[in-house]
Amino acid sequence: MADKKEILEQLNTLEDALNATLTQVSAIRQSLDDSQKENATLRMELEKVREHLAELEKHEIEEKTESSDEPNPTLINIFNEGFHVCHLHYAERLDEGESCLDCLELLYR
Ligand SMILES: [Zn+2]
Repeated sequence: MADKKEILEQLNTLEDALNATLTQVSAIRQSLDDSQKENATLRMELEKVREHLAELEKHEIEEKTESSDEPNPTLINIFNEGFHVCHLHYAERLDEGESCLDCLELLYR
């Protein structure tokens, strides 16, 4: 049987390694979460620019394009992926199973 002290040392080494790995996992998770949030924000900003551009083009050619009363598919996607699209919680993550009246109001008014 191996020396007790040796086993304890091995356990300590293993524990340190596991803790370091856990810290890494948390950091990666956090950075993934940040990226997803940033991604949602950028897509919403892009959608605003698109809408604005479409608005400008509409005026330019003086022609009626599709009704703006239609729910915006990009925003619906972002909302379905679990991010707020409302102004109050802009691009924040929705909790599991959480819904938001402000978002729904904005999407389906
Ligand atoms: Zn919301």
